[in-house]
Amino acid sequence: VIVVLSGGVGAARLLRALRTELKPSDVTAIVNVGDDVTMHGLVICPDLDTITYTLAGLNNEELGWGIVGESWRVMDELAALGGDTWFRLGDRDLATHLFRTQQLHAGATKSQVTAALAQARGISERLLPATDDTIATMIATVDGEISFQEYFVARRHDVAVTGVRVEGAAQSLPAPGVLSAIAAAQRIIIAPSNPMLSIDPILAVPGVRDVLRARRDDVVAVSPLIGGHALKGPAERIMVELGHEATAVGVARYYRELISTMVIDEVDAAVAPQIDLLGVRSVVTTTVMSNPEHARQLAKEVLA
Ligand code: GDP
Ligand code: CA
Repeated sequence: VIVVLSGGVGAARLLRALRTELKPSDVTAIVNVGDDVTMHGLVICPDLDTITYTLAGLNNEELGWGIVGESWRVMDELAALGGDTWFRLGDRDLATHLFRTQQLHAGATKSQVTAALAQARGISERLLPATDDTIATMIATVDGEISFQEYFVARRHDVAVTGVRVEGAAQSLPAPGVLSAIAAAQRIIIAPSNPMLSIDPILAVPGVRDVLRARRDDVVAVSPLIGGHALKGPAERIMVELGHEATAVGVARYYRELISTMVIDEVDAAVAPQIDLLGVRSVVTTTVMSNPEHARQLAKEVLA
């Protein structure tokens, strides 16, 4: 089994690409839940949903989140009532959150609901939330501390960040199967996700970092930064603001105690020797997965 530590879009694309090389049932994704939020009483798990929708072929490529062919009648009605609509939830997407919230109220765990949603969508990969407990990524900014979704959606990640912490992580337990999956995996891949906002909240769950460190020889990361830039989102900016070099080398340095190999893009080939000097083997390939042929090439390389 191959384990993939996963944020949202980049991880979803990598998981989809792995299908060209592996049986879906041989893949386990351990997914960030630090972005999870309760809105209108509904429990929303953005990274789990992005992965589920992408693997089900339902993702909305234009928006970069949510379901394809979406309509917004509920949001329009809510706006007419004067309700909160800054966090947009499409009509089709809402069914997921209704289903999840109802099941959680009936006593199911987040892992159980995630498995039920994956099954209903015809997905054979094993999707595990990092924890079944409630954790929340909190962003310290020059304007004070705000929740992840306030930072990401309401503020459009356009505010200087001074720190990140994951509320509740220290008291959380890894979801069933998380530690054993990492311990037993043939290989562990850190997806091209935001290191501070998507991967750190997984590593913050007690036990995860230690079991990963013990598997270092089999851990491969894919750089989310290409030519020093994120394809989308604040990965580049936040690395700079938190004092790291916003390049593939900076990412390798950030992960060096956990990974033995780092996959970087062809445009970064010149910095490969700097990564090797950190004691991390660099592999250069195409890493932009919007091109299916490149996605397949990347899937081959992370498994090679
Ligand atoms: P989220 O989708 O908002 O949860 O954010 P993620 O944690 O997935 O991180 C976004 C990061 O993924 C950005 O730094 C992107 O550059 C990176 N990313 C997205 N798609 C790709 C891709 O096809 N290839 C690579 N190498 N990185 C990607
Ligand atoms: Ca996310």
